[in-house]
Amino acid sequence: MKLEKYSFGTGDRFGHQGKAQLDAMKKAKEAGVEIAIVWNKSHREHLIVGTSPDDVRKEADEAVSSSNWSGAYYVDADHIGLSNVDDFLESSDFFTLDVADFIGEKADENEIEAFVEKYSEYCGQLLIDGITTPLEVTVEKIRKIAEKYLVAVNQAAKIYQYIETRKGRDNFVTEVSMDETAEPQTPEELLFILAALGDKAVPVQTIAPKFTGRFNKGVDYQGDVEQFNREFNDDVCVIKYSVSAFNLPANLKLSVHSGSDKFSIYRGIRKAIEQHNAGVHVKTAGTSWLEELIGLAESGERSLELVKDIYERAYSRFDELCAPYSDVIDIDRNLLPSSDEFRKWNGLQVANSIRHDATCSDYDLNVRQLLHVGYKVAAEFGETYLQALKDHNDIVGKHVCNNLFDKHITPLFL
Ligand SMILES: [Zn+2]
Repeated sequence: MKLEKYSFGTGDRFGHQGKAQLDAMKKAKEAGVEIAIVWNKSHREHLIVGTSPDDVRKEADEAVSSSNWSGAYYVDADHIGLSNVDDFLESSDFFTLDVADFIGEKADENEIEAFVEKYSEYCGQLLIDGITTPLEVTVEKIRKIAEKYLVAVNQAAKIYQYIETRKGRDNFVTEVSMDETAEPQTPEELLFILAALGDKAVPVQTIAPKFTGRFNKGVDYQGDVEQFNREFNDDVCVIKYSVSAFNLPANLKLSVHSGSDKFSIYRGIRKAIEQHNAGVHVKTAGTSWLEELIGLAESGERSLELVKDIYERAYSRFDELCAPYSDVIDIDRNLLPSSDEFRKWNGLQVANSIRHDATCSDYDLNVRQLLHVGYKVAAEFGETYLQALKDHNDIVGKHVCNNLFDKHITPLFL
């Protein structure tokens, strides 16, 4: 199973937007770009919303068969480890092996020594095609990288082998993710992480490093855009170099765990992949759920009231809802409207406050982020919420599709 050059990861909290999400890929195809769609859902998300990996498979298959989609599609067991991969084995054909927790754990001294010795030939100025300044590689740097990452790579190999013995080689796509950690990885670190993955024969097709800057959920990138662009370009070149140097799959590419809506870095990503004829996987968070809220708010009456009920509960349970996401949200609590205030807004105001349009004066990134992590509350409304989605399927689906196509796919690929 070989992942295509361009792929796009979409989340769908409640499993009702598969078709609308696929419509965005169809529009891309009509416009001349083929993008494989990957439905991703993590263990954490399943727990919070009360779904199972089989539900995602069912949704994906149904969306594809009802849409006459002939392009590629996958179901991603997102951010899994040995402790929770079992539930995903049957339904997933894409596995994101999350080894971030193992970064910094020190490997056996002999193993570190052997790694340093093997790669000491890279010491000095390492010129990599497409990178302006040569990488400065020293024995000390290689040792530091080995000390920091070998255990994580070994863990990736363990998870990979576990899945391989159960699903069979070549029956799934392997991604390795190291993004949910405190420090970003430099292009030099990426180079030797890839070397180590090659040593362990992990057929990694996408790798998700932690990039410089903040990737908060559902809002734009925060950080030095120029620095990101430079590092992203260098990472793309490091990958190209590593494929032949370390015997890795030819289609290996970067995976950007974007957390959605990183509009300000899309230009840099696009430029680098075009310039180096590289692929990319862009994983988004479950912001389709926010498009659901926007559609429901615009529909007015009972569905608008439902959005307000959800806000009220989310507002009163701020700490509980934000805790699992504390590293990837930044909400100024004092600036959130009270539930009473929110209740006074009309449908358009509510929709505008949630919709990510920085030029709109009603846009409120605090409201948007709180609701983004507030899907647990909507899950508690159960059938009431799902019925509202069915009743307003047209407007909600339109927003889901247009959001993906206009704001993400167009700037990235068209
Ligand atoms: Zn991630």
